[in-house]
Amino acid sequence: MTSSLLGPSPDMLTTSEHEHAWRTESAHTTSEGRVLYVECVACGTRRVDLQPHTGLPPTALSTMVAPTRSGR
Ligand SMILES: [Zn+2]
Repeated sequence: MTSSLLGPSPDMLTTSEHEHAWRTESAHTTSEGRVLYVECVACGTRRVDLQPHTGLPPTALSTMVAPTRSGR
């Protein structure tokens, strides 16, 4: 088995065929830290991140939510 070409990235193992390119849609500060609403510019998957401290990398607060196609 030679499946480690892409390198270890446990965060990415759930859904992705590509590496999500997260863009911050909106953010607001709570008592827990900064909550970031991010969306992948490539596929539209959304996630909510929590950045406990400015300068620290945000961690995933929610699971990734794939875009739904209900309605139009
Ligand atoms: Zn994506």
